[in-house]
Amino acid sequence: MTIPDTLYCANMKFSVEPNLKSFSPVSGEVIAEIAKTAPMEVKTLVTRARQAQKAWGALSLNARSRKIKGLCGVLAEKAEDIAETISRETGKPLLESVYHEVFAAAELARFFGSDTPKILKKRRISIHLLKYRSSYLHYVPRGVIGIITPWNYPFTISFGDVVMALAAGNAVVLKPSEITPTIGLKIKEVIEAAGIDPDLLQIAMGAGDVGAALVEGGTDMIHFTGSGATGRKIAEACGRQLIPYVLELGGKDAAIVLDDADLDYTAGALVHGGFANAGQVCASVERIYAVESIYDPLVKRIVEKVQNLRQGDGLTGEVDVGPMIFPKQLAIVESQVAAAIEAGATVRTGGSAKDGRYFEPTVLTDVTDEMGVMRDETFGPTLPIMKVKDVEEAIAKANDSRYGLSAYVFTRNTQRGREIAERLEAGTVDVNDVLLTHAIPETPWGGIKESGIGVAHSAEGLRHFCQQRHVNYNILPSFAMPWVFPYQRRIAFAGFDFVKGLYGSSNLFKRLLHLLRGSWQVVMALRSSKKG
Ligand code: ADP
Repeated sequence: MTIPDTLYCANMKFSVEPNLKSFSPVSGEVIAEIAKTAPMEVKTLVTRARQAQKAWGALSLNARSRKIKGLCGVLAEKAEDIAETISRETGKPLLESVYHEVFAAAELARFFGSDTPKILKKRRISIHLLKYRSSYLHYVPRGVIGIITPWNYPFTISFGDVVMALAAGNAVVLKPSEITPTIGLKIKEVIEAAGIDPDLLQIAMGAGDVGAALVEGGTDMIHFTGSGATGRKIAEACGRQLIPYVLELGGKDAAIVLDDADLDYTAGALVHGGFANAGQVCASVERIYAVESIYDPLVKRIVEKVQNLRQGDGLTGEVDVGPMIFPKQLAIVESQVAAAIEAGATVRTGGSAKDGRYFEPTVLTDVTDEMGVMRDETFGPTLPIMKVKDVEEAIAKANDSRYGLSAYVFTRNTQRGREIAERLEAGTVDVNDVLLTHAIPETPWGGIKESGIGVAHSAEGLRHFCQQRHVNYNILPSFAMPWVFPYQRRIAFAGFDFVKGLYGSSNLFKRLLHLLRGSWQVVMALRSSKKG
């Protein structure tokens, strides 16, 4: 009898293979085998998490935050081990694993470990009219959060989302990317080492079928980072169930270089923005618009810097650019670059795949708006550069995109840079830097248009993980107001005076007269109703 490698159940495709294999992106060898979660087991994980959440959610904000802060010490202790695990499974340079992942994760734990009580404390709302009552917002944990994460920043993205969800008093079922499962397990290890109840973080290990099962698994919210195609499926499923979701999706981030930019610094920043993590960054610099007066010298500097990039195994080598983490991504980059060349783009350096696992750091010029490399997310080590006549053309082209995650402006005149930044359609705009803000926990991270819905990080991001309850209460002894039953026409007419007195456009004196007349009518109405 032949055993099928896939099985269909309730219209979902399941892999029969019991283990998930983790492959080295450098050698292609299997580096770990991890037991898979069967999609039908996911609901059990949610139930277990829900049970653990009860005690966690009942802790005071301070007690919970102390535990979250404790994660910093664990990260410091395990920094080498975590960074090596990241570089082994992704091939990214060790320096990136330390700075872009471990550091960023520690900063998130520090911020949410110290500021959560301030962010989630009850917030008074000042009321304009009904001064005899008062209001406040009270933030309540949602319950169990389903978190689904990708392979490009497998530690810091997953860790940050888990930290925010826990800080807000929730339990979590995390589905790390099937491409980077050992890093997913590291997150569990760190949480447990900080003395946080292990049942608060359940790991659902597997591919898209397990992710889909989690979305349907009875959680109270889904926090997703990944592709737009999967994001749409998740939004549909959450919409059907009426559960909230946050989507952090892709980008096609534009950089605008003005005539007064410091060209050497700018070229260095753009090369870092385009090639860090081998371009597998949602906020990568994916297209450059340079004004014509500085176009040639900028391109020259960029090409020189790109040609100096060293490519290889990020775990063991002295390298700047690692392999493609997800082999299928190599094919996407290859086909986009080949199509651009076919359509007339000039390859200034790089241009093809190497050793089956790498893509050469590539600079393209003579690109057009219609080319895929200028319109679709590439998620690889390529930098297409376009000459524009002025900044207005650059802004129009930058905004002519279905994405809106980040954008970048380079100029020596920071004030001018800020004015341009405010006109760019993106969730985050950096003036004179790249890729920085995801690591700043105080600032919101999220995209507009097809780049996502909602934000991560920041006070706003943390509050997404809570139900917001509005409590309105009396501050004077309760009494019945004239607008309750039984209604009186006289009081209705007084209402016209109040509207005119409070919001009308006539002069102050006339408005005062309306208020007085309205009040008089109410008093008379109340008197006559008492007599009656
Ligand atoms: P990428 O192409 O970058 O891997 P995906 O959106 O496919 O982006 O994957 C991001 C995460 O979403 C991964 O953890 C993946 O397993 C998960 N995933 C893929 N398909 C689905 C799905 N239908 N429902 C839920 N999660 C999914």
